[in-house]
Amino acid sequence: MFTLGSVLLVGAVLVGAVLLDAALAPPTRAQEERAEGGSWRLHAVEFARSEGVPARRLLDGADAEPMGMSWYFFVARRARVDGSERVVLVDVGTDRLAEPRGRGERRSWHVRRAVPVLEALARLGLGAEDVTDVVLTHHHWDHVGALARYPDATVHAHPAEWARVPDALRRPVERAGRASLRRAGGALWPGFAVRNSGAHTAHQRMVRVECADGPVIVASDAAYLYRNLEEHRAVAVATSAAANLRALDRAVADVGADRVIPGHDPAVFTRYRSELEGVAAICP
Ligand SMILES: [Zn+2]
Repeated sequence: MFTLGSVLLVGAVLVGAVLLDAALAPPTRAQEERAEGGSWRLHAVEFARSEGVPARRLLDGADAEPMGMSWYFFVARRARVDGSERVVLVDVGTDRLAEPRGRGERRSWHVRRAVPVLEALARLGLGAEDVTDVVLTHHHWDHVGALARYPDATVHAHPAEWARVPDALRRPVERAGRASLRRAGGALWPGFAVRNSGAHTAHQRMVRVECADGPVIVASDAAYLYRNLEEHRAVAVATSAAANLRALDRAVADVGADRVIPGHDPAVFTRYRSELEGVAAICP
């Protein structure tokens, strides 16, 4: 026989459990959206420039025609309600091209000028300590080399790509508990998603960012140049040329050809010209 008292007691316990559950649950997408308002800003920041790279090193089936090539990383930023900013680097670039030990790479890649990545980042008024997160698209040296410059950032990567990052860069991140490894693609934050798509390396990722005027896709090295997109030509280094082209087709179908950003094209800095030298304002 239930008394009124026992019914009330059970009810109170249930309500308490629900409230406790809500307090412990991770923030919902809507809650996070409120905490980090607005749309993303996105810049490309150049740290090196090459001239006279034979086209066949970049474009599948091309000849030796000399091409300009740029080396850059991306900076995505979004305000938080507390006045701070989430600052996400998409790849970190490398300091190798600006250092004496990079002589071989400089010669091989016809590098004409290079600066340390933190010098390049400073053009946006940002320092290493401002970077909250790093999202890696793949494990290649020119994309992960400067990882140690960001000792406070959480590093997001596909576990298989992460496993191929050199130990000296990978271990300090793991020891500090800063590695966020997830096999699945999808949203990392509202309006910012990674996609397991590209086929430049086995688990290369593209990044899709919601800007004020619509989404853009950072193809990273799934397209070295705009010519990969315009001529429907695979990148010279791909796990499969067909898979690479399918990935580019999907990206173009999603956001439009002019909103897919390649990984090494100097034209990014003329198409999205900013007042800052070596900075492309993709989403200002
Ligand atoms: Zn690259």
